[in-house]
Amino acid sequence: MPATPSWPPNSTPRLFVDEELREGAAVHLSGQQAHYLLRVMRAKAGDAVKLFDDISGEYLATVTAVGKRDLTLTAEAKLHEREEAPDLWLCQAPIKKDRFDWIAEKSCELGVSRFVPVLTARCVVDKVKQDRLRSHFIEAAEQCERTALPEIAPLTKLEAMLKDWPEGRALFFCDERGGLDFADAITANNGPAAILIGPEGGFTDEENAAIKAHPSAVAVSLGPRILRADTAAISATAIWMQNSGDSDWN
Ligand code: SAH
Repeated sequence: MPATPSWPPNSTPRLFVDEELREGAAVHLSGQQAHYLLRVMRAKAGDAVKLFDDISGEYLATVTAVGKRDLTLTAEAKLHEREEAPDLWLCQAPIKKDRFDWIAEKSCELGVSRFVPVLTARCVVDKVKQDRLRSHFIEAAEQCERTALPEIAPLTKLEAMLKDWPEGRALFFCDERGGLDFADAITANNGPAAILIGPEGGFTDEENAAIKAHPSAVAVSLGPRILRADTAAISATAIWMQNSGDSDWN
């Protein structure tokens, strides 16, 4: 749910709905979303709300009926088609909760298309709550005018991920022990890509060697300083987006 804005709100509320929208569709909201619109935004019949569905795009909707704890909206004009996110996966070893949540939020803002949690030998966290990840993606997308959410892959062991790696997708392995300059590596490896970031304790020597031996892997450096995993993930994503993501964004 978006953060509570200052009152009175100066922008139209914008919400993700988990159903396919089309012009004329009635959308019934209850629970947290209704609470947000009715209590936080004090929505009344006739008010405008923007809705997006991660399938067809974003619509301008009007509140058509208000109950005590629920409300109905009608989707009217389509404002935007669903965006095409750049073809970048973020393969991230799970790290402690708050920092992992932060990576989820920022990776959605930056436009990652798929988020792949990767289990490695030094992971101190070995479970990933998909719902929690998704709620961070939704919140970030609601606030940042995104019309697409990153897909979430199941938690995958590093070995299995490398074994099943799709041909033609560069795997940029962020290696604090050294690698190519990342921007140069992106230029040399255009096309579908993924960024791989280790857990707090990094990769073991064996993992490091196995990743480097993979034909799609390109070991890259994010500079001479060791970064925490969350900083590395978001810096690398920003560098990729800057150098390869959306050259025609204007
Ligand atoms: N092994 C280290 C640090 C791990 S940092 C230690 O325990 O001190 C966590 C992850 O961030 C690493 O696995 C790597 O993927 C990434 N990372 C951190 N600094 C980096 C850098 N300068 N260049 C490339 N990747 C980096």
